[in-house]
Amino acid sequence: MTLFPSRYNYFYKINNKYSFINNILTGAIDFIENDIWNLTVDNKFEEIGKYPLSNLIERGYFYDDLKKEEYIFSELYRNYIKKAIKRPVRFVFCPTYECNLRCSYCFEKDLLSHSNKHMDEAMLDAAIDSAQKISKDYSGEIKSIELFGGEPLLSKNKFLIKKILDFAENTKAAITVVTNGVNADNFIDIFKSLSKQIDMFQITVDGVKEIHDKRRKYASGKGSFDEISKSIDALLLNGINTNIRINIDNSNIEYLPDLFDYVKNKKWFDSPNFNIKPSIVADHSSLGYNEFIIPEEELLRKLISVYDKYPELEELFGFYIFKPLRHVLEIINGAPNASPKFFNCESNIIELNVFCPDGYIYVCPESIGKEEFAIGSFYPELKFNEDKKGMWSKRDIFSIEKCTSCRFAPICGGGCSYSSMLIYKKNMEPVCQRFKETLDVFMELRGEKILKKFLT
Ligand code: SF4
Ligand code: SF4
Repeated sequence: MTLFPSRYNYFYKINNKYSFINNILTGAIDFIENDIWNLTVDNKFEEIGKYPLSNLIERGYFYDDLKKEEYIFSELYRNYIKKAIKRPVRFVFCPTYECNLRCSYCFEKDLLSHSNKHMDEAMLDAAIDSAQKISKDYSGEIKSIELFGGEPLLSKNKFLIKKILDFAENTKAAITVVTNGVNADNFIDIFKSLSKQIDMFQITVDGVKEIHDKRRKYASGKGSFDEISKSIDALLLNGINTNIRINIDNSNIEYLPDLFDYVKNKKWFDSPNFNIKPSIVADHSSLGYNEFIIPEEELLRKLISVYDKYPELEELFGFYIFKPLRHVLEIINGAPNASPKFFNCESNIIELNVFCPDGYIYVCPESIGKEEFAIGSFYPELKFNEDKKGMWSKRDIFSIEKCTSCRFAPICGGGCSYSSMLIYKKNMEPVCQRFKETLDVFMELRGEKILKKFLT
């Protein structure tokens, strides 16, 4: 019998008896006896029992004709596109590039010297007007309105923020506020009446005061921890959904347990409006590493050593921050399958429209202020540049040559477009994450645990 292995098989030997196998395209996850897997490697399919063999074929690990796999891939793509076309649109308002903090790893430092740092009322009116016009070209529904910066919650911009909130109230869009949190408690009066519409206030806390204040400080050098903690108290007291984002890297990952204790002592977990999640610090302008940014699998190893000492942290945070593990985690947690990713992020489907104080519209929040990456402008008038839009939307796992033969393509999507443009000065270069290395470390350190779950 001639069978061909799928192009998307991942394999890791867990112990002397079992191996973990995953088909990255179909999302199938199985544990297989090593003896059986070895027979497939040696092409001795006729020696495998009828049931295990039909199972391997049904779940997409082997094909009698690889064209069948291509067909499955294109069907999944067609379904994905159908859904993507119907998507609602999301708007981000960035009233200023100014910020009251000077965080050590900020990707927006250059914006402080931008010649057009602030929106005035006329510009904000033009942004709101443009949002209404753009939404009509989509489903008409506005899914979310986000406040972003610089720092959106500067006291002098309160009247602009109020105007954006009035717009959000009229459209019934979910509201997200991405803020450093130091001044959030002075804005509660204008947010309070919309508390049910607020999806979240996202506030970054990088650890307990000792480490947070070294990373997230004012221009004077003073740390921001105390003001942020006070704002979180005030937001929760007023029933406003508040999400702490912990930006983790090599220099603060070991402080996670201390922060967890701080949050417990503050009784923030008692609030139904509280959430906390880590996020990995990334430098989109470089593929290199330094004392803060280390390879993903090394960060995972460090995180697991923290989890081994504090299992309640593993329960709380899990591993979802590691993109190479998400498809496995989804299936382990009960999802029937994991859908492939044909693009890397929402910038590739022009889902976000970020209105900035320079009058431009961006699709990637990290690229704001660099007009060469803008897809159009909204002030003085609304205009799109189709070539610039194409720079983002033409990028997918079919159009990037190296991705077309990559087994991790269905969980990668081709990598970050912005990084491709910054690092290679072209939009069609692959930006590979460390998929195999990260999956290998996860299986090395958590494979037995997952196997036990499968066997019971
Ligand atoms: S960017 Fe790299 S890892 Fe991602 S699909 Fe392309 S080749 Fe594979
Ligand atoms: S293009 Fe890159 S930096 Fe921009 S939103 Fe997407 S993943 Fe993030």
